[in-house]
Amino acid sequence: MSDSNATTWHILGAGSLGSLWAVRLARAGVPVRLILRTPQRLAAYRRAGGLSLVEQGQARRYSLDAETAAAPAPIRRLLLACKAYDAEDAVASLAPRLAGGAEVILLQNGLGSQDAVAARVPQARCILASSTEGAFRDGAWRVVFAGHGHTWLGDPLDLAAPAWLADLQRAGIAHDWSLDILARLWRKLALNCAINPLTVLYDCRNGGLLQHPAEVATLCGELAELLRCCGQPDAASALHDEVQRVIQATAANYSSMHQDVALGRRTEIAYLLGHACATARRHRLLLPHLEALHQRLLRHLAERGLPRH
Ligand code: NAP
Repeated sequence: MSDSNATTWHILGAGSLGSLWAVRLARAGVPVRLILRTPQRLAAYRRAGGLSLVEQGQARRYSLDAETAAAPAPIRRLLLACKAYDAEDAVASLAPRLAGGAEVILLQNGLGSQDAVAARVPQARCILASSTEGAFRDGAWRVVFAGHGHTWLGDPLDLAAPAWLADLQRAGIAHDWSLDILARLWRKLALNCAINPLTVLYDCRNGGLLQHPAEVATLCGELAELLRCCGQPDAASALHDEVQRVIQATAANYSSMHQDVALGRRTEIAYLLGHACATARRHRLLLPHLEALHQRLLRHLAERGLPRH
């Protein structure tokens, strides 16, 4: 067995994506340990007898090993599978256990949380991921694998691909090593900013934005300007075309932000539109429509008692 195979994957966050990764890795014979939030959550997980994954309508339970952050063993490989707003605190709670040269794989959507995490664990190599897979929780310790997709991974500071990508291969996790992961994350952030906030404000499916072509076009123009200004010209190229394609292709879907707001859940706004506006301000770039959209969305969230960050 190679060293890559023997290294345990610690997976923080047994939510949608964390469970999806944990089950597939474990099924491929890769050692996996879940890290749960509290001793109470750990006890509840044990009472449930493990995690259930629903695939093609069939649920199957997997009794994966689990612990809390307080467990003593050093961590060499950590998959951080929580929401962007939980990532910094979560990794800080594990920092004493992260050995020198440990690797942390970050599944968070948007931008901003990755830098905050990296600053907390300077001893570790941080690998950023961007995923189009889809999963959701439909009960306690139960996750539905809703959409097959692809995951890009990369490290802006070290372009060498890690040997453990072989674990993902064996686990059937479709992936590629990206030499420009930041461009991918910026592009995804821009697509999100052009679509998701408007779907919340107009309370519509993605296809509802076909009624607002001028507003979408204006936002795409400002987002492309922002991307070029932060050294991401590739992420800016033909952005409006892709936004229109995504709106058409996903016309019947509700965006993730729309779903979060409809269910009264905290959004990742600070790492999406909030990050875009903060970056524009830092570059002294005036993007009036994007800023107005941000303010409207913040008011909308506040009116519903949801956090503004
Ligand atoms: P999720 O279902 O809400 O799962 C997050 C999990 O992290 C929860 O189980 C939460 O525990 C746990 N957690 C948070 N802080 C923790 C801590 N300190 N210790 C232990 N556990 C902790 O979220 P998700 O949908 O998997 O999303 C994760 C990230 O992936 C997000 O940035 C999201 O945007 C991105 N993403 C998701 C999808 C998708 O289809 N789901 C697709 C692409 C990208 P509790 O249950 O105790 O709160």
